[in-house]
Amino acid sequence: MAKLFDSVRYLKGVGEARAKIFAGLGINMLYDLISYFPRTYEDRSRILPIAQLQVDEPACFRAFVTSQPRTHHIRKGLDLTKLTVADETARLNLTFFNQSYVADNLEYSREYYFYGTLNGDYMGYQITNPIFEPVEQPGVLTRRIMPIYPLTAGLSNNLISRTVRQALDACLDELPELLPAELRERYGLCDAVTAYRGIHAPDSFEALNSARHRLIFEEFFIFSVGLSLLRTGRDEKRRLPLEIPDLRTLEAALPFSLTGAQRRAIEEIAADLSSGSVMNRLVQGDVGSGKTVVAAAAAWITAKNGQQAALMAPTEILAEQHAKGLASMLQPLGVRVLLLTGSMNPAQKKTVRAAISAHEADLIIGTHALISESTDFANLGLVIADEQHRFGVAQRTALAEKGENPHLLVMSATPIPRTLALILYGDLDLSVIDELPPGRQRIDTFLVGEDKRARINAFIRKQVASGHQVYIVCPAIEEGEDESLRSAEVWAETLQKAVFPDLRVALLHGKMKPAQKEETMAAFARGEQNILVATTVIEVGVDVPNATLIVIENADRFGLSQLHQLRGRVGRGGDKSYCVLFTSNRNPETLTRLKALCKTNDGFEISREDLALRGPGDFFGTRQHGLPAFKVGSLELDMHTLQDAQAAAAEFVTSEELPTLEAYQPLMERIRALFSSAGEA
Ligand code: ADP
Ligand code: MG
Repeated sequence: MAKLFDSVRYLKGVGEARAKIFAGLGINMLYDLISYFPRTYEDRSRILPIAQLQVDEPACFRAFVTSQPRTHHIRKGLDLTKLTVADETARLNLTFFNQSYVADNLEYSREYYFYGTLNGDYMGYQITNPIFEPVEQPGVLTRRIMPIYPLTAGLSNNLISRTVRQALDACLDELPELLPAELRERYGLCDAVTAYRGIHAPDSFEALNSARHRLIFEEFFIFSVGLSLLRTGRDEKRRLPLEIPDLRTLEAALPFSLTGAQRRAIEEIAADLSSGSVMNRLVQGDVGSGKTVVAAAAAWITAKNGQQAALMAPTEILAEQHAKGLASMLQPLGVRVLLLTGSMNPAQKKTVRAAISAHEADLIIGTHALISESTDFANLGLVIADEQHRFGVAQRTALAEKGENPHLLVMSATPIPRTLALILYGDLDLSVIDELPPGRQRIDTFLVGEDKRARINAFIRKQVASGHQVYIVCPAIEEGEDESLRSAEVWAETLQKAVFPDLRVALLHGKMKPAQKEETMAAFARGEQNILVATTVIEVGVDVPNATLIVIENADRFGLSQLHQLRGRVGRGGDKSYCVLFTSNRNPETLTRLKALCKTNDGFEISREDLALRGPGDFFGTRQHGLPAFKVGSLELDMHTLQDAQAAAAEFVTSEELPTLEAYQPLMERIRALFSSAGEA
């Protein structure tokens, strides 16, 4: 097993300097290098006669050099090297920019393979800067499917590809097989050596697909088994069962009756809390589906049993809002609610912390950091994490270790497809709130350009005139380097002075003092401001039912799920609501992405679209789930492989025998390595 763990330093062409650059990509040993998969591929395997080359279509061809290459010095910094080549079908001009060395490397009357893209105008056709290799040499840059690696400064694609090939030759025979033969046969997967060869140096597209399929399966399988093992570890943790009070008492105290989906989620939570095992549950529901009351129910049950609950919010604004909302909901039922925020002065914090440890509070609300740091609870029975997409596996693991194994309830506002949730949150049980409170109307969404500015301003005025309020979201706080980005500060001032001098325009962003933020938000909630110009600080949770219009500037700068979250700030009361997305971006892909929002209000559908477009790595961010982003899998495209991998994982973890088999030990080792480092992240 020596070679796999050898440093890349000792490969030909990699010295100390390049080894450092590789290290920056997380590549230290040969195993890392061969696990650095191509981003995409170029088909240089098709070889065409010159006469069949098509304009703008890259291709390979075989030709003789039919003229002595000549370099012309055009001006300072611009040299052109020109020559002609020919095969039996046609003759072709080649031009190289600032590559005068090719004059030495391309010999008159010798034959080469070339790869390039034909371009042409009335002056005739030519190829600029083609790649070439003498026909006598084996095809490395031509005549093959060329892997294209994610690049970084100082490493060219050719260098990476050459180095990876060396590494493959050096260490493939030592590659551990993580998937035993029996499993590979059952799911039609190739072996590890074939897969690593096939992903880096495929002979054909069939070979490439079969390699991808195997590696995707492996990746999902490991992830799924790992999470299930985490969960089994937790299932063993016992807590005395809580007694469940009559839920009708809670319902009677609410200003509305629960939706069926809310009631179902609460019942699932109640069953967990009274089971005698520690709860690990994820509640997923679209924006505005009413997750807060579900959290309230869990806190109420906990308090009724003489234990404390902590609610962790991602932002201070949200913590404050939750404190208000939950206090008015739960204080009448005898639950003492207390807020702990970073903006309190040390004396205040001390008082609050003293109250918490003396059990003078039943439900404590604060930001993630405040709750998880130095707060001492008298008797912590339940932790609720709101807006879970900022809350990864590593943090969940850390929390479970805090206190006496409190129950854990995670609330997610980023709905994701169920299969995906099962993979990414396989260590959690899942409740889905798939029903909106009655009376909600569709939020009409429009994608517009600058030409509609005046009309939209008139529309803002109309909303305000009918007694409603408006959010305007900008991607930046202050005027910055990127002038195309609208800044909240400048825009708020412009609107107030030049566009709506008679209306009340307020400003809210993350750099303001917490007290100032709170006051602004509270004033807006009381209806004292007509228009709130804000950054994405209002993204999650903010609840002002009287707001009926949200205008988002530079909408192309945001992810789809984020836009959907932002849009969820309106349509929270009974009134018809609207969302306007401004963009001056003309990229067709961007426009398609944004139009998806105009088509649907369904967060599940939108996140599916977002995933398909951005890939899961980006979607969650490595840090957020605390594990490596999926490298080969794109969840949307590979749903079947995902389902297979998950079925196999479920079978594996429920089996007594499989995990003990010799053939599965490399896999078990890999999982332990991956998941223990995730816990420390
Ligand atoms: P989420 O956190 O899921 O985005 P919230 O819990 O903030 O949603 O609820 C959104 C709004 O819907 C709030 O104003 C809340 O009072 C209201 N609401 C929640 N449940 C119901 C219900 N069953 N009937 C009517 N209104 C509800
Ligand atoms: Mg919420």
